[in-house]
Amino acid sequence: MENGGNSLPSGPDGVKRKVFYFYDPEVGNYYYGQGHAMKPHRIRMTHALLAHYGLLQDMHVLKPIPARDKDLCRFHADDYVSFLRGITPETQQDQARQLKRFNVGEDCPVFDGLYSFCQTYAGGSVGGAVKLNHGNCDIAINWAGGLHHAKKCEASGFCYVNDIVLAILELLKVHERVLYVDIDIHHGDGVEEAFYTTDRVMTVSFHKFGDYFPGTGDVRDIGHASGKYYSLNVPLDDGIDDESYQSLFKPIMGKVMEVYRPSAVILQCGADSLSGDRLGCFNLSIKGHAECVRYMRSFNVPLLLLGGGGYTIRNVARCWCYETGVALGTELEDKMPQHEYYEYFGPDYTLHVAPSNMENKNSRQILNDIKAKLLDNLSKLQHAPSVPFQERPPDTEFPEADEDQDAIERWERENDMDVDDERKPFSGRVKREIFEPEHKDAAAAREGEHARDMDTTFKETASLTVNENN
Ligand SMILES: [Zn+2]
Repeated sequence: MENGGNSLPSGPDGVKRKVFYFYDPEVGNYYYGQGHAMKPHRIRMTHALLAHYGLLQDMHVLKPIPARDKDLCRFHADDYVSFLRGITPETQQDQARQLKRFNVGEDCPVFDGLYSFCQTYAGGSVGGAVKLNHGNCDIAINWAGGLHHAKKCEASGFCYVNDIVLAILELLKVHERVLYVDIDIHHGDGVEEAFYTTDRVMTVSFHKFGDYFPGTGDVRDIGHASGKYYSLNVPLDDGIDDESYQSLFKPIMGKVMEVYRPSAVILQCGADSLSGDRLGCFNLSIKGHAECVRYMRSFNVPLLLLGGGGYTIRNVARCWCYETGVALGTELEDKMPQHEYYEYFGPDYTLHVAPSNMENKNSRQILNDIKAKLLDNLSKLQHAPSVPFQERPPDTEFPEADEDQDAIERWERENDMDVDDERKPFSGRVKREIFEPEHKDAAAAREGEHARDMDTTFKETASLTVNENN
């Protein structure tokens, strides 16, 4: 189990993968406000590094189609989405009650373009799921996504809409079992909560636990009802290093892949688990962090790579650039190429940075106990759940009629992107599927008709979430 995904049919790890990369040149312009730790500029820095390392030529670069209201409402409450669409820095003083209700204003401030920022990052993640569903690529990447704290009707921890939940819902149209893995230093609470009562999604979060945001993610939280044993939490302490981290990550994820056998995987690559993060307290190197990407890639299952936290932005850009190289099967030179943000990377101007000498508070004994506990939970899953598709959701990403071909070509022309360097990337298209959100009453009625219909599973989950929040 330590040496890669040999439990599933897979090509050698070094085999090239077809990678689709989602990037909107506007994303770096969104600004949470002075002093705020979350800086979308890091996505633009990552992109610049990718361009100058020559990686854009090896991927399909796609500009995401913004998620529409109805796409966001597949998970989020209608009134919450309407609020996000309507709120502006100018109007917010008249909305005190609503701001409080939706937890917007402090960690999650109102800023110019907030709603289009949400549409952009969610559009990339859902677009990636659509591409994987269609078999267009092996790996899809959206570094602007991964905002794992957002709840059905509430912003949280710098996250407004939960692009990960939306991407998982998209994958569930085609895939019987979806695995979500989260290596952000914070617990992936929003995603866990959304799928806590279903066995169609397994969530696994590795995070700092104990007097740390968001406070959830105890090893004893394992899921509920049909979802029991399908949520896994790996609580860690300050200063964890590469060796300690991988001594848990590989055995646990190897066992998860063996017993759960997902047909699609989402890996949230939050970079606040790196050494030296402004808000974090772990001691991972970029190679140690990227080892998680390398390992999950080795199983050769359709993979969606998302961003997440990461607040020492030069290291975030380093990390996600290096991990894009891992996705492509390319090892990058440590010496950084000259580019527009080169001065951020002094004095060494290298891709890799040494971890610190901070104390690793995770003793061997504690790590072994956690590993044993989690492997024991996994041993309760003798077989991957088999899920009959009684009503397969419509598979309607692309127009089929000939007349729509013109629309696609027009779309492609209109969405040709000029990226801010001399290299002109492949211009692709992402066509969102046409989806009518099902009314909750209808879902409830259907649930009564055939309680184990797989299409209703996440809707049960969604309504449970509503009840908990109200
Ligand atoms: Zn985080």
